[in-house]
Amino acid sequence: MAQQPAPPSLPVSDEVGRLYDRYTDLGSVTLGENLHFGYWDSPDSTASLNEATDRLTDLMTERLRIGPGSRVLDLGCGTGAPGSRIARTTGAQVTGISVSHKQVQRANALATTLGLGDQARFERADAMDLPYADGSFDAVIALESIIHMPDRAQVLRHVARVLRPGGRLVLTDFFERAPIPDSGRPAVERYLREFMMTMVQAEDYPPLLRRAGLWFEEMKDISEPTLRRTFVELSGRITESAPELAADYGGELVQQFNPGDLIGVEEFGHLLVVAVRPDA
Ligand code: SAH
Repeated sequence: MAQQPAPPSLPVSDEVGRLYDRYTDLGSVTLGENLHFGYWDSPDSTASLNEATDRLTDLMTERLRIGPGSRVLDLGCGTGAPGSRIARTTGAQVTGISVSHKQVQRANALATTLGLGDQARFERADAMDLPYADGSFDAVIALESIIHMPDRAQVLRHVARVLRPGGRLVLTDFFERAPIPDSGRPAVERYLREFMMTMVQAEDYPPLLRRAGLWFEEMKDISEPTLRRTFVELSGRITESAPELAADYGGELVQQFNPGDLIGVEEFGHLLVVAVRPDA
């Protein structure tokens, strides 16, 4: 049995919303508008962090198999850059949800600025209790958001319900690639606690999906092309702008946001999962 890090207390949706309300501006200083990891196709890729985060959005979007007019739910939409990108690159109609009011405002403003106001709209809603009719989406994308949700099984049941038969789900999650060694445990526990997240074991996914009424299609360990380089880039950016960030947010927060301590923790993993709602 793999040993798990000390179980963190479960995230509470409203608290996660307040966390993102508070740090909406900071997120864009450090990560850019995509609040997720970059994906570099090769170790010598010269892609910037912004290009690499768009690349991860695109890799997930390809797996949604959507096109003009498809109805897509972006579960945990952040400040809307991925949702607007999906709308623009595929022609789909995107509905994004977040538990942060501030993110929702910003996501709608971004879509309007990009001229996508009639194709991408964002609202405050909780993935634990989706306010949408059965079968109302062709695809659901959850890009680095299920990590914050208090009960993955409940979220996946809602996803299965709002997907039409044949509809697809693509998500990323954090998992233990191997038992986290004692040396890496403080960094992992700190990261999960401060950002109100939990992680899973990869083998949890097939039964989780099956019980929710979804077919498991693909599971991929994307740690290598994503984690280390994102942590290095982020840590560098945060160190560089530490004085300004400390002036705006306080020195403690600069520490909290710096993922430098996770750089060598190879057991901390990043998972891509694809599932399908079976035809009736
Ligand atoms: N997918 C976006 C944002 C990732 S950050 C991007 O890649 O840029 C995590 C997002 O999940 C935030 O927008 C947060 O509000 C959202 N989230 C967390 N818990 C949620 C919940 N219970 N319901 C809906 N959204 C949630």
